[in-house]
Amino acid sequence: MIDTTKVILPPATIAILGGGQLGAMLCEAGRRMGYRMVVLSEHETDPAGRWADHHIKGDTRDPATVARLARQVDVLTNEFEQVPPEVLEAAERVGATGGGGGCRVAPGSAVQETCRDRRREKNLFAAHNFPHGPFAIVETAADMLPAYERLAEGGKAVVAKTARGGYDGKGQKWLKSADAARHAWEQLGSVPLMLEQAVDFIAEASVIAARSPSGASASFPMFKNEHRNGILFQTITPGGFSEETEKQARAAAEGIAEKLGVVGLLAVEMFVLADGRVLVNELAARPHNSGHVTLRACTRSQFEMHIAAICNLPLSPVHILRPGVMTNLLGDLWRSGEPAWGELFAEPHGTLHLYGKSPRPGRKMGHMIHTAATVDEALAAANSVFARLA
Ligand code: AMP
Repeated sequence: MIDTTKVILPPATIAILGGGQLGAMLCEAGRRMGYRMVVLSEHETDPAGRWADHHIKGDTRDPATVARLARQVDVLTNEFEQVPPEVLEAAERVGATGGGGGCRVAPGSAVQETCRDRRREKNLFAAHNFPHGPFAIVETAADMLPAYERLAEGGKAVVAKTARGGYDGKGQKWLKSADAARHAWEQLGSVPLMLEQAVDFIAEASVIAARSPSGASASFPMFKNEHRNGILFQTITPGGFSEETEKQARAAAEGIAEKLGVVGLLAVEMFVLADGRVLVNELAARPHNSGHVTLRACTRSQFEMHIAAICNLPLSPVHILRPGVMTNLLGDLWRSGEPAWGELFAEPHGTLHLYGKSPRPGRKMGHMIHTAATVDEALAAANSVFARLA
């Protein structure tokens, strides 16, 4: 059981499973706040290694390795989506038997078990009446056609997603006919699927909630997200939604965080409908790409909030300091060599964040954030710089 009262103050040690850019930005925030940051990841060149106090090269999926790490730190958190719950269980056992309060594992294995599986996520939304679109779970090839036909009724489009393992639009297939549905089972690897009716949304959005072991919670303002080819392209804050829509969205995010018992951040991706309602799409119990905008646009960043939440520091509401736009920089920009970053620095409001990864098409290499007096100005600056880089 997690100790719900213990507050973990600097200079305690926080371990992060995973070495990507989310881990790098967590290290940067944690070190600034006075914590000692340790990263466990596979490769010498992983981005978070450069930002950590100590980088351990090892297998984040090996329970014995993770348990050994848990014995040496005060809190253990993670920065990637598909953390096997077994490794967190191994760390939790250390916490339970370690004496002196042991290591806090946040978020815990039960949360990760839900967030890595679209079936569990949707069942949670349905069980607690969090608004969501029509869906069907396909466990076997024989389930496929009846599920498709039920969702496609009235000519609706249907999307099939692998229940586990997909991200950035991978492991997904739009089904345009019963024939396509029949083939999709094998094309997607003959694994359990989530089928969803197409949602006719006017915008995509996200709300990032934070929850501490004591049960306190807070959320960031609702962001508007634009995707291109299934990958986040831009995040805008304020998102321009009505007060009522924002209220619903934040209540859903904080409500789901509570039902799940998350400790740390919970990013909730949503669709916004023409009538102002929101439908919850999916969850990630970690910092989220859309939340990078908080680094410059908000009173506190998502990374600081994650550290505060897992250490049981108070969670005060977060406000927008200045309208902001975060634009992802994908590997495609490198097709003719290093992009001309001078274009960004010639413009007064932009900041550049590069993660130090080697470029590949579609790979998230970095992002830029533009802030200005209005969203329109920030957006114009971001788009003009992006056009000159691309
Ligand atoms: P996901 O992996 O669930 O976040 O899906 C990736 C992207 O596909 C989303 O950001 C949407 O742009 C689109 N998408 C996913 N599910 C649906 C749906 N049920 N209806 C419409 N668009 C969807």
